[in-house]
Amino acid sequence: MEAKLNTEGIEAMNREFPYLNEGDVVEVQRGPDPGGTGGAYRIFGATLKGLRTTLARVFEGPMTIQYPEEKTPVYPRFRGRHKLHRFEDEGSETMGLEKCVGCSLCAAACPADCIRVVAAENDLDNRVSAGERYAEVYEINLSRCIFCGYCEVACPFDAITMGHEYEMSDYNRSDLIFTKEMLLAEPIDRAPLRREGE
Ligand code: SF4
Ligand code: SF4
Repeated sequence: MEAKLNTEGIEAMNREFPYLNEGDVVEVQRGPDPGGTGGAYRIFGATLKGLRTTLARVFEGPMTIQYPEEKTPVYPRFRGRHKLHRFEDEGSETMGLEKCVGCSLCAAACPADCIRVVAAENDLDNRVSAGERYAEVYEINLSRCIFCGYCEVACPFDAITMGHEYEMSDYNRSDLIFTKEMLLAEPIDRAPLRREGE
């Protein structure tokens, strides 16, 4: 049955949708008609643009990197495997002591909750760190780490930094929990650095 609007209905509609009578309907701007000569011209132009990128690479030659013999260079600020540091200033009384004092600020800053620090009091006759306390346990679960760098920013003593090493894959998750001894060990740093402007 065909619906008919009476005067009351029209008035109600005008109240509900006043813009219908005021001529302020927003016109949707549509693109040009996809077909025809203009369409073919646009498609041809877009194809040429894509080909320009492809052809530019043709003259660069092959870019194959023979990994693992050859490694991809990383940028100087690349954040890779963590390192824990000792004091290295020759002749000072802190020489060789661990910089980490077990304050857990890095663990608090870590968004992935992957750092575990257990602090202990230093024995004055056999100090481990230069502070009152030291990290008896310091572990980073690298299977959870997102390499954000918040831990190195949070550390007030530069005790932990992130190196350039990125080869950290393993077969077991438990092997990706790096202990304090592993983090203090002399870093391998096999990843080459990019030269300036490279
Ligand atoms: S890099 Fe980020 S996620 Fe990884 S241990 Fe540090 S704070 Fe946590
Ligand atoms: S690495 Fe730095 S922030 Fe983390 S527990 Fe040690 S001293 Fe504190």
